Amino acid sequence: MHNHAFRADSPAVTDPAFSREEAGTCLTLVGPAPQWVAPGLTEKMAHFLANQPQTPCLVVDLDVVEVNYRSLRDSLPAAEVFYAVKANPAPAFVARLAALGSSFDTASLQEIDLCLGLGVDPERISFGNTIKKARDIAAAYERGVRLYAFDAEEELEKIAEHAPGSQVFCRLFVDNVGAEWPLSRKFGCSVDMARDLLVKAVTLGLDAHGVSFHVGSQQKDLGQWDVALSKAAELFRDLRDLHGIELTMVNMGGGLPTPYGQPLYTVHEYGVHIQAAVDRLFDGVRPRMIVEPGRYMGGNAGILETEVVLVSRKDATEDRRWVYIDAGRFNGLAETEGEAIRYPIVSDKDGEATGPVIIAGPTCDSVDILYDKANYALPLSLKAGDRLRLLSTGAYTTSYASIGFNGFTPIQAHYL
Ligand SMILES: *Cc1c(COP(=O)(O)O)cnc(C)c1O
Repeated sequence: MHNHAFRADSPAVTDPAFSREEAGTCLTLVGPAPQWVAPGLTEKMAHFLANQPQTPCLVVDLDVVEVNYRSLRDSLPAAEVFYAVKANPAPAFVARLAALGSSFDTASLQEIDLCLGLGVDPERISFGNTIKKARDIAAAYERGVRLYAFDAEEELEKIAEHAPGSQVFCRLFVDNVGAEWPLSRKFGCSVDMARDLLVKAVTLGLDAHGVSFHVGSQQKDLGQWDVALSKAAELFRDLRDLHGIELTMVNMGGGLPTPYGQPLYTVHEYGVHIQAAVDRLFDGVRPRMIVEPGRYMGGNAGILETEVVLVSRKDATEDRRWVYIDAGRFNGLAETEGEAIRYPIVSDKDGEATGPVIIAGPTCDSVDILYDKANYALPLSLKAGDRLRLLSTGAYTTSYASIGFNGFTPIQAHYL
């Protein structure tokens, strides 16, 4: 077996080949310049991985999740935190946040039941998916859930019928400029439609609680919150002035980033910026504020260890090697789609000479290529049996795995 000497501060993380993104995507710079944030291997993780667990495996240090939660609370104290369960629905993960007092943004009855099963009060659960079956709304209502998202008239009617009198918030469509994993187009409606629907909500006997938006996941441009918040504030004003309806809540969704080895603002800078924007745009009257972090909460808490299955060249004259590893698009690395999310990769051979590689998963599907255009470089001596670590893989990995495409089992996850 190998003697693993992985280093979290490995050169691969800050190697120019791994850090193509520049601060230039932050269009509206307020406050100090972004800082480099290096993803970390904690002692607990190092200890666990030293025992050579079966790969592919994800190890998540829940203490890092706790630090993330507390940092966000400290940075944006006026906002309630509703963790977006889809980012990592592991019971141990959700339980740690529940114990810290977090609330939860859920998308399905299964996620609601997961939270309730861990003792979360239904008052701390939001049914935040804008696309819900009527019978799931009814079941959520029966369980005590009273906070629902919508972005369409038909959805509003379903909620009015099956969750009468509940608090509802309308999701606004916003551009996801600057986000590495955009969530645009599929969700939300225009400000004009939101205005009409919130008025209709009142006529249907619902509590028109407020508005929501999502600026796009891994959003590095602070200015995107200003754009969305000004739309929300406009709706608050219009409904009060034109219709005598007082909205009370702004749900600012997710979008807070996790470090992938690129320059990022700190969570404190996000918090200060967002709070200042709310106070400026809402004329000093602070609405109830909700944030729904997913990626931020778990990303940097996880490291995925994989084994190299094959290193090859398609021709002896080719410079670029193919590196096939035992984790891929179908057993957890779905966010490599379009090479959108670029995980820093470290090897115990870091420090040796490197060369360009294409990195691919183990299945017999040609879509199962992780990084081709992204210009990764890995040690020239890399060979089958070596292990690689993908950093910042604690969010949007395990829950994306298929049940076993091509017989390859989903990533085993360990929560420490
Ligand atoms: C996925 C999702 C989130 C979490 O987004 P991140 O970018 O991971 O923070 C928050 N709110 C809603 C409604 C979502 O669908």
